[in-house]
Amino acid sequence: MKELISAISTALGRGGVAIIRVSGEGALSLAKKMFSRKGEFVPNMMYPGEIDCGQFRDYGMCVYFRAPKSFTGEDVVEFHCHGGQEIARGVFLKTLALGARAAERGEFTKRAFLNGKLSLSAAEGMADMINAESRAEVRAGYSLYTERLTQEGKRLQALLTTCLASIDADVDYPEEDLNADSRAEISEKLHEVEGKLTALLGEYRTGKKIKSGVSVAICGRPNAGKSSLLNALLGYEKAIVSGIAGTTRDVIEGNLEIKGVLFRLTDTAGLRESADEVEREGIRRAKRVIDTADVIVYLKEEETPPAFPEGVPVITVGAKCDLERKVDCDILLSSVTGEGIEELKTLLFERGYGQESDVFLLEERHFLALTEAKAAVCAALEAVESGLPAELYAEDVKRAWEHLGTISGETASESVITEIFEKFCVGK
Ligand code: GDP
Repeated sequence: MKELISAISTALGRGGVAIIRVSGEGALSLAKKMFSRKGEFVPNMMYPGEIDCGQFRDYGMCVYFRAPKSFTGEDVVEFHCHGGQEIARGVFLKTLALGARAAERGEFTKRAFLNGKLSLSAAEGMADMINAESRAEVRAGYSLYTERLTQEGKRLQALLTTCLASIDADVDYPEEDLNADSRAEISEKLHEVEGKLTALLGEYRTGKKIKSGVSVAICGRPNAGKSSLLNALLGYEKAIVSGIAGTTRDVIEGNLEIKGVLFRLTDTAGLRESADEVEREGIRRAKRVIDTADVIVYLKEEETPPAFPEGVPVITVGAKCDLERKVDCDILLSSVTGEGIEELKTLLFERGYGQESDVFLLEERHFLALTEAKAAVCAALEAVESGLPAELYAEDVKRAWEHLGTISGETASESVITEIFEKFCVGK
């Protein structure tokens, strides 16, 4: 078992309870030195008692998890004290005085990974859940955390392993040559892997939106009602509303959750020719926002809308419908009366996000690994189907297998593993 580490696992601040977690060799004897319980500690049982921090005492709880049945796979104790910063710090400092060292970022989870308690993608899913800004991200993170992607990766690896077994037989006994049946079988399995990878990769567009939010550019001519619409969608006054054209000179952002998905709304400077240098810069920034948006909301009056980037959905809105304006558009609404605002949210969800679905490909690292795996499988398939000798595509199949292994972490490099856990918070 590893050296003893300790950290405050709850966020620092005032709260009902704070938890100090200790993991490694000697966790139980440390608990016995600073917790009042005289009898034995039955694993997984919460005991009430006094926590002795040296300078002061608190009345709280202590629990012991015996290796390997703990989060880290090592002996773990947790102290649950009252949730004040000073109390939590006092308990933590006492654990250090008794021989523990302060844990590094993500060190508990890194140990859990190294001890085989969870895969690398599960650890990343857990971080996604902790960092989530929307319910959809929590759900997707939970799918990762419960090993959905690792299991998928392992299933594909198993198919590649059977291909490699046939290939190895051929490489070992080249005089017997791979017969046509065996080659067809390899080709069929590689096609299956390729098909599943293509389907998974197709989810990334949605996964990325879940992770980063759907970016919405609200644009139109000056005074069209953009800032008012941003405020009406958000439900509070974020942007300045004024009858003076050119008031919004920079981009103004606000977050909105629609059906659990995060939408990042951006109110942009009104699009027009302007002599004012500051306004011109605002319009340049507006164009950049429009260029990278997932969906555009254009507040249309009588004019023909400008050309927008190809492939990006555009919702045309006729604003100020309380003034009984007639506009040819997708939706009529009023930011003053609220009419049409809910319909716009529904349309934003449909056109900007799509259907509600169970997605777990949201991490760029996973996307890149699967993309590399697919490229290697395609290279192998081409060689098999051209009748090339097995040793020429064996490497491609192995490469695909290794890329898939980086999802679980089995074949991930030390530097990748370090980088992932460095992004965690202390105490996780
Ligand atoms: P922006 O320049 O496109 O951001 O436009 P603003 O949101 O600042 O609005 C310009 C003017 O139109 C302001 O005087 C607003 O009060 C008014 N306005 C905006 N939306 C509505 C609406 O739905 N109904 C009415 N009657 N006036 C509106």
